[in-house]
Amino acid sequence: MALDFRSNLHDLLFPTSHAESSTRAGRAKDAGVRRLISEGANTPRIAILGAGAAGICMALQLLEQGITSFTIYEKAKGVGGTWRANTYPGAACDVPSHLYSFSFAPKVNWTRKFPEQPEILSYFESLVTDHNLAPHIEFNTEVTSATWDEALSLWRLELLRPADAIDVGEDVGEDLREEDGEDVGESEPQRTPTEQVEAEIVVSGLGQLNRPSIPNIEGLETFEGTTFHSARWEHDHDLTGERVGVIGIGASAIQFVPQVAPQVADLTLFQRSVNYVAPKPDRAFKGWEQWVLRHVPGVREAYRSSIYWRFEFRFRLMKKGSRLGRLLQKKFGEQISSLASPKLPLEALVPDYTPGCRRILIANDWYPTLLRPNTRVITEGVSRITQTGIQTDSGEKIDLDTIIFGTGFQATEFLAPLRITGRDGQELSEVWRDGARAFLGVAVGGFPNFFILYGPNTNLGHNSILFMIEQQVGYIRQIIDEFVLRGISSIEVQDTAMDTFDSEISRATAQTVWAEDCSSWYKNSSGRVTNNWPDYTVKYKQRLAHLDPRDWLVRTASQAVDHE
Ligand SMILES: Cc1cc2nc3c(=O)[nH]c(=O)nc-3n(C[C@H](O)[C@H](O)[C@H](O)COP(=O)(O)OP(=O)(O)OC[C@H]3O[C@@H](n4cnc5c(N)ncnc54)[C@H](O)[C@@H]3O)c2cc1C
Repeated sequence: MALDFRSNLHDLLFPTSHAESSTRAGRAKDAGVRRLISEGANTPRIAILGAGAAGICMALQLLEQGITSFTIYEKAKGVGGTWRANTYPGAACDVPSHLYSFSFAPKVNWTRKFPEQPEILSYFESLVTDHNLAPHIEFNTEVTSATWDEALSLWRLELLRPADAIDVGEDVGEDLREEDGEDVGESEPQRTPTEQVEAEIVVSGLGQLNRPSIPNIEGLETFEGTTFHSARWEHDHDLTGERVGVIGIGASAIQFVPQVAPQVADLTLFQRSVNYVAPKPDRAFKGWEQWVLRHVPGVREAYRSSIYWRFEFRFRLMKKGSRLGRLLQKKFGEQISSLASPKLPLEALVPDYTPGCRRILIANDWYPTLLRPNTRVITEGVSRITQTGIQTDSGEKIDLDTIIFGTGFQATEFLAPLRITGRDGQELSEVWRDGARAFLGVAVGGFPNFFILYGPNTNLGHNSILFMIEQQVGYIRQIIDEFVLRGISSIEVQDTAMDTFDSEISRATAQTVWAEDCSSWYKNSSGRVTNNWPDYTVKYKQRLAHLDPRDWLVRTASQAVDHE
């Protein structure tokens, strides 16, 4: 009992560790599974889609359990997902470094408080090397469809391997064509024939921010200069002395615009909506700080935990009617309006929505960049793109050499364009036609043995996504344990559990600022908040700590449906 009390207390203070194995029952179950596997028990074949943070986390936790019957299919040439694709100047995380790493595999030698893209990518690459994950990964392999075979209780996946190896940076044309409604897979000329593989379990780690979104602006194809999206940065293209336009000012633009501004002749920002930009308390760690964080695990863990709780309390801001939010809005307006001038009008500086409704951004160089003589902010809409530049709604024509899209990602179209066909031929895209939803963000009724990491309603505006992914992986691992312990052949979320959860999410979301009248990538076109978890992350952790058998419909190898 004393042991359990200690671990519960530890879990409360340091809530970033993997839940199940921190309890006595969880540890006993883990040990039981490991023993069975070491004695030769069958383990299911598991297909993990994507080798970003989520796919890597799932794989590491399977290895930890002694399960090696898994393959990661990754369409890019390497691992890292987001942090491989987003190489734009200034790309960095806005969660501090010691929290933006897995609790079970901490990076002990971060060089700065807020990590930059190269250091994050190298963290994920080092996990793959240190744990010898490479033999489990099939790169340049895009999963195009997954179909459930009810009779055999398994998934059939179709894989495409491009004839010429591509990297994530080369498929933006694909995304443009998709927006035009063309079928990408069939229109790609250099594809090898599809290949089929089978797996009892599929775990999607495709992320929410993987496919760049480029608005369908009239005349885009006529522009004679260069265009690219921030997530597909053209490093070979020299911007020095150019007239550059940036369409879309969000989290990425806030980071790359200050880097680009000193280099170019003129920078025009086409900004439809304004951000709250707070100071970024970033700096390199001092030598002695690095030494302590590296060599004194207790200090490192306490530091990580203190970051977690500081960030966690920010969720107060996301609550509708938050006093803190009102105070912030007032103070922000007062301070920032002093920067306004005829060149930089108030509407280019002060948001007209409640803080938190869109992500609150952090940067120290944003406002100085707006004040630069070569920077201009346009707040009216883009009417069309011409051969030589951009025409605004009022008819003004701005000549440009390069247009950079900082327009974010197709975030609400979860798992697209992958075609997922579940029991009775149901298409997941059809089930989700009014907006993606999933039980705890991880499972959908009618799609047995199919689990999602960083799925619907698991994004955050206030804390680390890696924390959420870790909880999901722990939960899915508990499900996979059931395959080993009980020899089950399929498991599927009960409709009642899904409906109850869905109602909870709707009720909780209605109490957040996201439900207010502001546009954000958290919502789909009908206004449903499909992306965000509407509560504290510590509550999410509690929900996923233990698998409740009443939520699940289990089928054993003897095919009897077991309604627990
Ligand atoms: C610019 C940017 C900044 C961010 N900053 C933060 C931050 O500060 N804090 C934070 O917590 N989160 C941040 N995020 C969110 C970030 O996406 C998550 O933290 C995390 O990296 C998600 O990892 P993932 O593995 O779920 O998805 P991803 O990193 O997107 O990985 C998905 C992988 O799946 C692969 N893939 C896609 N489709 C297929 C297919 N059909 N077949 C095979 N492979 C496929 C992709 O190539 C990719 O490697 C940021 C995201 C972006 C884009």
